[in-house]
Amino acid sequence: MSEFWSKKKLHEMNEEEWESLCDGCARCCLHKFEEVQEKNFFYTSVVCRYLDQSSCSCSEYSRREKLVPNCVKMTSANLETLKWMPSTCAYRKISEGKPLDWWHHLISGSKETVHEAGISVKEKCVSELHVHPDDIEDQKVHWVHP
Ligand code: SF4
Ligand code: SF4
Repeated sequence: MSEFWSKKKLHEMNEEEWESLCDGCARCCLHKFEEVQEKNFFYTSVVCRYLDQSSCSCSEYSRREKLVPNCVKMTSANLETLKWMPSTCAYRKISEGKPLDWWHHLISGSKETVHEAGISVKEKCVSELHVHPDDIEDQKVHWVHP
């Protein structure tokens, strides 16, 4: 693959390019809330039950939208969801005309660098299975933000 991410806009990418753009951070699988007054979103350390935390991959990738109604499958047709995606998200960066970071596997050549750089949620999150739903909002974190 040539450096398609620096030459193409998101809607110009083919499926293989689109899928490869995801850095595997799983930050988008964290529970997030909207602060209506502040017109802001914040993230928590509580993550979806279907995330395999050892690899930061979805254990139900093909059924994810059925199992988790608010699990958004990013496509070029729903880019409005980018407004609450993490500032580090590759889709968001490309949409804002920014370069990919050194730890992105398309730059580093390794899918481990997103973990080594501390960008992924690996070892930083807790499954929603272990947190009472009423308490999720209290688990706000500052290491990820839209
Ligand atoms: S935040 Fe963006 S880059 Fe990270 S896993 Fe989600 S879609 Fe992929
Ligand atoms: S269903 Fe999978 S992709 Fe969707 S939020 Fe849960 S772990 Fe993430």
